Amino acid sequence: MKGLQFTAEWAPRADYAVSEFERRTGKAVTGSSVWRNPRVRLADVKEPPLPAKDVRIRPRACGVCGSDVHFYETDEQGYIRYPGLTKFPVVIGHEFSGEIVEVGKEVRDLRPGDLVTVEEMIWCGECVPCRNGWPNQCLNLEEIGFTIDGAMAEQLVVGAKYCWPITALAEVYGGAEAACEAGALCEPTSVAYNGMFVRAGGFKPGGVVAVYGTGPIGFAAIALARAAGASRVIAFEVSPVRQALARQVGADEVHDPAALAKQGGSPHEVVLRASGGAGADMAVEAAGAPARTVPEMEQSLAIGGKVVIIGRAAERAPMYLEHLQTRAAQVYGAQGHSGYGTFQNVIRLMASRRIDLRPVITSRFPLSEAVAAIERATKRQDGKVLVTG
Ligand SMILES: [Zn+2]
Ligand SMILES: [Zn+2]
Repeated sequence: MKGLQFTAEWAPRADYAVSEFERRTGKAVTGSSVWRNPRVRLADVKEPPLPAKDVRIRPRACGVCGSDVHFYETDEQGYIRYPGLTKFPVVIGHEFSGEIVEVGKEVRDLRPGDLVTVEEMIWCGECVPCRNGWPNQCLNLEEIGFTIDGAMAEQLVVGAKYCWPITALAEVYGGAEAACEAGALCEPTSVAYNGMFVRAGGFKPGGVVAVYGTGPIGFAAIALARAAGASRVIAFEVSPVRQALARQVGADEVHDPAALAKQGGSPHEVVLRASGGAGADMAVEAAGAPARTVPEMEQSLAIGGKVVIIGRAAERAPMYLEHLQTRAAQVYGAQGHSGYGTFQNVIRLMASRRIDLRPVITSRFPLSEAVAAIERATKRQDGKVLVTG
């Protein structure tokens, strides 16, 4: 079968200490310090076998993620830009939905023909963090499309326990195709939900929310903030296309930080002005640029305000902690989307039309043109590029 496969050379940078875990598993913890000269192609890959508790899925819609683009783009030395857990070669694609075509012998609750979306994080359920209720911090984590083969393929096999039916979306949106497109947005939306509501515990209805960076996580954060009763949602984004989409999914005001800087302004001044001087009750980092965004957040936090770090970046961010103390503020780190009712609640919010992120899908490519889909995504002209099957 065909799959969009990335390969790269294992070439740890001179200053990167390869750990025993990395040597043993072949997984790089900081991908951007290990993998060099990536190549991508639509390859012939072996059809995976079907273990008893797994299901075989024909992907119908799969989003191109910023991390996929960061596999493709390299720095001056030829290293990939994605800073997280990776093992190559791998078939990419982790924001997806599709139709179940076959179920393993011990699968109880799913049938061929069911439409599902799937968690990207394959938590083991057996390590100490998993047993203590931290599936997103699993020590034996595999990630679909990062360390094991993903959904930009004619089929993939995953554990039934990572699947979430989207039958309700087909009923509301009037068909499988629309349901699967919305279903492909459940993963990034769940990442935003996990950060804002599971990790940070949300904000009170009427609160002011600032979202820094409106890629797919930022769009989801805006829509979720609206659905949760924010009185004002303020977004910061440099891309004009994404600024317009941010307004469409619910931002009350969208500002270009580069334009602000040219006028001698800054995001924290905007947030303070928009909140009558009170500051943001929640500030969401979805830009992956914390060295620039966190200082702005820290200067415009409401009393009891929360900073939620969701964007990924291998860098340190300066923070004047005195502001955290005087404002009784807090910072939450978040990764992943598993557990705590997150996928279920995101699907419910879509099915009730409290959120609808489908407008952010701006380009579609068939699997046969998946390389072109990645190239398109590097242009950063889209809300979300989809590969459809
Ligand atoms: Zn993603
Ligand atoms: Zn685990």
